[in-house]
Amino acid sequence: MSGPSSDAPDVAAIIRSLMREVPDFPEPGIQFKDLTPVLADARGLAVVTDALAAVADHVDLVAGIDARGFLLGAAVATRLGTGVLAVRKGGKLPPPVHAETYALEYGTATLEIPADGMDLAGLRVLLVDDVLATGGTMAAAAKLLRIGGATVTAAAVVLELAALGGRAKLPDLPVSTLYVV
Ligand code: AMP
Repeated sequence: MSGPSSDAPDVAAIIRSLMREVPDFPEPGIQFKDLTPVLADARGLAVVTDALAAVADHVDLVAGIDARGFLLGAAVATRLGTGVLAVRKGGKLPPPVHAETYALEYGTATLEIPADGMDLAGLRVLLVDDVLATGGTMAAAAKLLRIGGATVTAAAVVLELAALGGRAKLPDLPVSTLYVV
């Protein structure tokens, strides 16, 4: 018997079939989940974009986190009819910037957004990234957007590494993931 749900793509299965697992990258002991092949696949990109966009609840802006989050964020923004903001790694944007340094699964990092040239005040923002690992990246990005005056309504990621407990760093942010490992 067929019904509407039987035509719905199995998003997790598509991600699982296309993603690449790279042991010991970029550090020994890190199992790197490479979503590049998912984004490079026409159906993969379309399915993931639709599923991430479905998380949005009346947002004015999508913010994508450096670097695969840029690709996903722009695709999702196009689906939603919003603009996109790149949350960039430190040192790439001209001043003035809002900056936040945080701990990664491997090392530390800094994220930045422009502090001038666009007004985030009152905007409802959906945050998008490829992988939620320890949650530090998402927490830093959410903090930056809030400093800028935005309301971060939700975060949407393709893949969540549940064992790393990233959600615990995001108690005030609903996080939707398409595939949990
Ligand atoms: P975290 O701050 O630990 O949640 O790390 C999330 C960010 O780092 C995302 O932007 C991911 O692209 C990247 N990342 C961290 N760990 C991994 C991993 N094991 N595989 C792929 N990307 C990762």
